[in-house]
Amino acid sequence: MPKHTQPRSPLMVSVWAELGAGRLTEDYIKDKAQFVDGYIEGGHIYINPANAVVETCIHEILHRLHGEWSEAYVSNRTTFLLRRMTDAEIQQFYEEYQRRVKKRRRKRGAAPVSDVRGRTAGGDGDG
Ligand SMILES: [Zn+2]
Repeated sequence: MPKHTQPRSPLMVSVWAELGAGRLTEDYIKDKAQFVDGYIEGGHIYINPANAVVETCIHEILHRLHGEWSEAYVSNRTTFLLRRMTDAEIQQFYEEYQRRVKKRRRKRGAAPVSDVRGRTAGGDGDG
């Protein structure tokens, strides 16, 4: 979808500004009953990235294991697997992901941050 051809939404501008205000904490959040992706307490936002990361990771692993599967079928099987995972299993998977994942770093001599921002701001419309 050509996102960058859409006019910038004033709502997205507000969301970016609110992100800039900070008051965000990333943490494992475990309700008594179930995993929680995030919540607000006293104007402070708490985010648990585990669910989203585990879902994306399983999705991509299924693509790698079964290159012949359609996008719809990979999504179907991802949901199938996720619904059968306990909160503890999701947490365990997330921790294993964190041990395995390589964080891509900026190459030496790459464009300084200000140049990257300039390119991004004109490029994807959300910046
Ligand atoms: Zn996919």
